[in-house]
Amino acid sequence: MKAIVIREFGGPDVLKLDEVERPVPTGAQVLVKIGAVGVNPVDTYLRSGVYPKLPPLPYTPGKDSAGVIESVGSDVREFKPGDRVYTSGSLTGTYAEYALADEKDVAPLPDNVTFEQGAGIWTPYATAFRALFQKASAKAGETVLIHGASGGVGLAAIQWAKNAGINAIGTASSAEGKQLILDNGADAAFDHSDEGHLDAILEYTGGKGVDVIIEMLANVNLERDFKALAMFGRIVVVGSRGSLEFSPRLTMGKDASIFGMSLFNYSEAERLEIRDAVFKGLSDGSLKPVVAKRFALADASAAHEEIIASKAAGKIVLIPTTDH
Ligand code: NAP
Repeated sequence: MKAIVIREFGGPDVLKLDEVERPVPTGAQVLVKIGAVGVNPVDTYLRSGVYPKLPPLPYTPGKDSAGVIESVGSDVREFKPGDRVYTSGSLTGTYAEYALADEKDVAPLPDNVTFEQGAGIWTPYATAFRALFQKASAKAGETVLIHGASGGVGLAAIQWAKNAGINAIGTASSAEGKQLILDNGADAAFDHSDEGHLDAILEYTGGKGVDVIIEMLANVNLERDFKALAMFGRIVVVGSRGSLEFSPRLTMGKDASIFGMSLFNYSEAERLEIRDAVFKGLSDGSLKPVVAKRFALADASAAHEEIIASKAAGKIVLIPTTDH
């Protein structure tokens, strides 16, 4: 089968399409024939070798995907060949035509959700759910600022928030991104490349500020977020790509809380809570993954360049085969 193989850490050109042996599931493993692969920013951090925990080389990247169960190990109970599924993890990597996964890292994909949409489920929706509800405990009637709402996690956060009766404000740096934020149900959209946007958001809330900020670029925004934060506000650091000078006193005046989070740290109970909420939301149509761009598997390097360099407008996916 075809798979992307990384033999050395480096720039996007280390993503090479190769011919590798198709894995065979044993025990509680399933083999998924992949219809679409989700590309996440973390895939680029791992590829470049700058992430705290790196996979041994060589490796095939990716954990998000959607497709059909091809075959199962003898201990698999929940799935059978032909079932439509999405993955939240993979033993062999999802940038491939087939991927091996533990049964627990596979979930049913409702019939109304395409493979391309399914590839954009786990990392974005689980991260947004964990940030909003398991960390910030956001509640109906509160106001949330999703600071960086035009990408995978941000659009998922808008959808979760609106479904829960939370007022959602989003930011993007393009007209297309702002429109997408509004189309996904946000009450207002602002431009984070505009220096005055946090003052404008404070004004939008009538001077009260927002109860929760889901922060996608903390190294740029964490200090100035306090301008638009309400008393007793909570900030969840979801993304950060560097460091900043920060005045801790800012947290005192507002009795504010800052939460860090990594999707890798959820408990089993939290994982199951997310998985159940995702299935319900996808099935009833209240969660709708937004696909921005598709690339062939062979063009994974272009997809990696795109996710870091371009303005976001939903998810970037890779398509390994065309015979689904
Ligand atoms: P994405 O699809 O590439 O979207 C990136 C988002 O960041 C876009 O909405 C982009 O807006 C926005 N952004 C760019 N500059 C910004 C700024 N100055 N202020 C605020 N937002 C800004 O990425 P994603 O999948 O949504 O992930 C978002 C971040 O969360 C990434 O850093 C990712 O690594 C991180 N993440 C963390 C976890 C975790 O477990 N902690 C899990 C998943 C993702 P424009 O393009 O419109 O400027």
